[in-house]
Amino acid sequence: MNKRKLFFLSILIFICCIIVFYHSILNMADIKYKVPYSNNVAREDLQGRTYKKITITKIKDEKIAFLTFDDGPCLNNTLKILNILNENNIKATFFVVGKQIEKFPVITNKMVEKEMSVMPHSYSHEYKKIYKSIEAYKEDLERCCSVIENITGQKSGVYVRVPGGANNRYCNKAVIEAIRETIREKDMFCVDWNVSGGDAVAGKIPAKIIKDNVLSQCEGKKIAVILLHDAYYKDSTVEALPDIIRGLKEEGYKFKTFNDITLEERKRLMRIRVINV
Ligand SMILES: [Zn+2]
Repeated sequence: MNKRKLFFLSILIFICCIIVFYHSILNMADIKYKVPYSNNVAREDLQGRTYKKITITKIKDEKIAFLTFDDGPCLNNTLKILNILNENNIKATFFVVGKQIEKFPVITNKMVEKEMSVMPHSYSHEYKKIYKSIEAYKEDLERCCSVIENITGQKSGVYVRVPGGANNRYCNKAVIEAIRETIREKDMFCVDWNVSGGDAVAGKIPAKIIKDNVLSQCEGKKIAVILLHDAYYKDSTVEALPDIIRGLKEEGYKFKTFNDITLEERKRLMRIRVINV
């Protein structure tokens, strides 16, 4: 055998060794996830040693979506949204406006009846008024919470969405910091979002854009808090909602609300600053 043939033969043997080694590593990894026995009864081997069944469950990372609707309830869109959620057997969170729930108590109670999460947003939602001072904000939030309690007969939740977000540019820095401090003192949490439908950037945003905004921003996210609106003039949000839900389901998202958020999920949202304290 000449040197050239010997060289190629060595290369071939080397490649074969690599393949065999790689497969044995894969098999070892696989064994870790194999369930050894089909029941929980302790087994005995030939030497008389007993072994208990060890079940190793490989936990698949699940994706979680919190659909949130701000600024409602309203006469034309909130019930349509509730119907869509109901048809899809999913729940969502509504950050409500106090004066709106005073106008539409029946719709508000429909949300509660359908096991939606009803959380405070603002009583008046008038930026000039609520961001004038920390006292003005405090009064507005307390009024919103007490209206929720009076109408639903339930204690207002501890998750609050500050109008415009917890770091908004409509409020001066000192006041917004004091607002976050106030919310913290009340053992409440400011909930922002990491996905926005963009349905509030103008009066009428086409449904396709809202849907594309949500689905594209959800890409790569294991946990998504999605900002949408159920105000009177947001019919394109309603139009986009079935496609948003379908798209999220196809991507493997499970839907949750701020009523059933776990401590672990809250910590995750705090780490990515969607929940601010
Ligand atoms: Zn709002």
